[in-house]
Amino acid sequence: MTNPVVLLDQVSPQDEAHPLLARLGVEQILAQPAGSAAPSSTPELPVHTPITGQVIARLRETSEAEASDAIEAAHRAFLVWRSVPPPRRGELVRVFGEELRAEAAALGRLVTLETGKILSEGLGEVQEMIDICTFAVGLSRQLEGRTIASERADHRMMETWHPLGVVGVISAFNFPVAVWSWNAALALVCGNAVVWKPSEKAPLSALATHALFLRAAAKVGGVPPGLCAVLLGGVRLGELLVDSPWISLLSATGSTAMGRAVAPRLARRFGRALLELGGNNAAIVCPSADLDLTLRAVAFAALGTAGQRCTTLRRLIVHQSIYPEMIQRLKQVYRSVVVGDPRAAGTLVGPLIDQRSYAAMQAALQEARSHGAQVTGGERVAVATADAEAGNAAFYVRPALVEVADQIPVVKRETFAPILYVLPYRELEEAIALHNDVSQGLSSSIFTLNMREAEQFLSASGSDCGIANVNIGTSGAEIGGAFGGEKETGGGRESGSDAWKQYMRRATNTINYGTRLPLAQGVSFEIEPGQG
Ligand code: NAD
Repeated sequence: MTNPVVLLDQVSPQDEAHPLLARLGVEQILAQPAGSAAPSSTPELPVHTPITGQVIARLRETSEAEASDAIEAAHRAFLVWRSVPPPRRGELVRVFGEELRAEAAALGRLVTLETGKILSEGLGEVQEMIDICTFAVGLSRQLEGRTIASERADHRMMETWHPLGVVGVISAFNFPVAVWSWNAALALVCGNAVVWKPSEKAPLSALATHALFLRAAAKVGGVPPGLCAVLLGGVRLGELLVDSPWISLLSATGSTAMGRAVAPRLARRFGRALLELGGNNAAIVCPSADLDLTLRAVAFAALGTAGQRCTTLRRLIVHQSIYPEMIQRLKQVYRSVVVGDPRAAGTLVGPLIDQRSYAAMQAALQEARSHGAQVTGGERVAVATADAEAGNAAFYVRPALVEVADQIPVVKRETFAPILYVLPYRELEEAIALHNDVSQGLSSSIFTLNMREAEQFLSASGSDCGIANVNIGTSGAEIGGAFGGEKETGGGRESGSDAWKQYMRRATNTINYGTRLPLAQGVSFEIEPGQG
């Protein structure tokens, strides 16, 4: 199987990415001749590392003709793959999981280079990929339908699930490979082909993942060519997936603004959507909370990935009786947390992805100040990296704590940066109302040792999010549960539980094994014998 759509122009041999790409097999797939649809020139895609702000590679963008070819090839592959027994499809995913296990350190480091997340989080992302492969392999022997009671004698009614077609995946920069694997592992065992447009900010990790997939496919044998493809580029290629009639399901992860553009456009052709969009996650800290545990959980949820997770904790709603202690301890953490080169031991907060993200953070802090909020931190930090002093193009910041009396407009928006808004509350009902009074609905937590408070938060009148936790933070979900959120988060569910059903089409079958033809609802429709 080849990937005809990309060609590497330059990865600086001095750069740390170079040996990683060689090891992971990216150079080999890029060295293959371009497909017949390859134009002589398409726009260049420069790849930056946020660690120093430097360009570490220049790729050629996939042309529209190449992308269309890849989608059609995926459709042809689907026509073969859908008839392969699911446990054999699972074997491909199992071997891919083995490739990931063998190369976890290299792929995790590449994720760190491209996204700036600390090494442990880069590795964690690969572990998540391994875990979903394990889940999908089990699933490949458990895809199931149900038998339903029929109102008619001598009839059997059942539900069967069939492969859907080509699944398009659009992914965001902050989980450059895990999001694809959540979709692809399930889509593949369900009998689909997958065409992926990764974030234009993290194409190298995507290429490395694709190279490992190709290795697995070669080992397993019998995998139809084009079953998985990668398209490199930006919005234009995303739109091509949205509009292509060959894409049966589009799973799109990114900002709510992206979802607003994609969803109606997809609906115009009745395309199926699985949307995983922005969050504005909150935690309520009750008087009985274990404050040591709460502080650790809040620190990971708010500071992890430098505040650039969809599930990052952005709002902390603290009971007024413990507010002074909580804010004082948080300030200590925010002042002392190590901001620096994400490859260095001890660093907990790496860089922001780019200048735009830094500007958005500063604008949000300025807006909060103008509403009377008290801001601690938020300033740019000079960092010495392992290579050199990070230049002007790298954006390291001290995370910001923002004390606000109520939810001013900026608090209700998602700013994709390490800003934690802290608000006091008096009654739990008031805290839950504040919690739900935003347009996003991804992840939520309550910290309490009071069983009534915990259950109220999880009940129908509690958190309105897709994820609601007790005594753990908002981020770091396990793959076994369905992942996703409500309202402007898009309503999609990925990963565990029964999320697999979205990657299949459902058929209701009714079988008459008798000699009569009773009609449902008792309808009578008798024709004379011999008539017709
Ligand atoms: P983004 O919206 O800028 O881009 C995401 C992807 O969508 C990219 O691949 C981009 O090329 C593509 N895209 C953008 N506009 C498009 C359009 N009109 N048509 C087709 N494709 C389009 O997001 P980002 O900055 O990469 O990521 C951060 C955002 O993603 C945050 O809002 C974060 O909350 C969200 N996110 C959500 C989840 C989740 O599971 N809910 C997970 C990760 C990130």
